[in-house]
Amino acid sequence: MLSLPSPTHLSAWLSRLVQIPSVTPEQAGPRSGEAGEVRISAAVAGWFAQFGGQVHWHEILPGRSNVYAIWPGRTERWLAVDIHTDTVGVEQMSDPPFDGRIADGRVYGRGAVDTKASLAVVLALLEAMHAAGQQPESNLLIAATVDEETGATGAPGFADWLRARGLLLDELVVAEPTGCTPVHGHKGLVRMEFTAHGLAAHSAQPHLGRNAILVGARVALALEAEHNRLQTTPASALGIPQLTVVLINGGIGRNVVPDTCSLAIDRRLTDGEDPQAVTAQLIALAAAASLLPLTTEVWRQIPAFYQPSSGGLVTRMAAWSGQTPTVAPYGTNAWAYGDVARERIVLGPGSIDQAHAAVEWVEIAQLEKLAGVFARWWGL
Ligand SMILES: [Zn+2]
Repeated sequence: MLSLPSPTHLSAWLSRLVQIPSVTPEQAGPRSGEAGEVRISAAVAGWFAQFGGQVHWHEILPGRSNVYAIWPGRTERWLAVDIHTDTVGVEQMSDPPFDGRIADGRVYGRGAVDTKASLAVVLALLEAMHAAGQQPESNLLIAATVDEETGATGAPGFADWLRARGLLLDELVVAEPTGCTPVHGHKGLVRMEFTAHGLAAHSAQPHLGRNAILVGARVALALEAEHNRLQTTPASALGIPQLTVVLINGGIGRNVVPDTCSLAIDRRLTDGEDPQAVTAQLIALAAAASLLPLTTEVWRQIPAFYQPSSGGLVTRMAAWSGQTPTVAPYGTNAWAYGDVARERIVLGPGSIDQAHAAVEWVEIAQLEKLAGVFARWWGL
């Protein structure tokens, strides 16, 4: 059996990764710079090669590439880990974002928990495996993916790459902070915007115009009624669907009948709901409530991810981590892999409570825990 990397070594790896800024360009600012994932992708590719991996670059967006590396195993099976390399912005952080300091049994900085913690553990294990001259039990594929925090294009890009090679993964872990608990499902979502189109007029003569804000208000109330109806439907394994009006925009001036009003909504889907069907239903519902022409822009359509907790991967991970499997309220890259992985879960060290926060950290004990779980999973 492989001797596991020490807590000091694991925290040193994570500190090193935090010190390489990889803020998603959409949330860049003066503190972060605008380089995105370029530097960390290059560094990770270098380490993968150094530790014996067959490295593949895959450009997803201009200058932003997923990096994949393969370690052939002793069997025909395929295991994979998807670890996103981008982080959210740092401009609002009250803590130094990139010092990667180690204190109080924790590692601090942007990405410390979301999700460079998993990357650090994986790199430390690959390093130890290579140094010991060991081969993993199954073929091992590590994917360092870009753009999870904004566009979420890295994961579907990886899924396309697998499809193009006819590669069906037996087991996939999507790395996110779950306290090393196997998460076997989370809701999907539909995000869209409705715009009511009225007619501008002088507000002294409102009868000459058609007020788009009043129509937007009717649509918002109809959507609230739909949310309330959903709350009376039977709960699935992932709970009950949710519908929230999240943005409203309209009006031209203090003395003008508003000619447009836009409403953005966020609809959370449970397992079995079809994003296209839900979108069509919401369009019909909004149109029925609107007295004006309505246009629609669909931003995101993501199905829910759900696998039964009785699956082999879930069961083994739960036994190794000592954690009871659960489902999560937030979304992850796991949605992208429905047809390219037989079994998939979300699992990683630390708590989502510290993700995206003004002070971000992970407990070093969580890194040790994941190292133990992954070493067993890889058959080291
Ligand atoms: Zn994350």
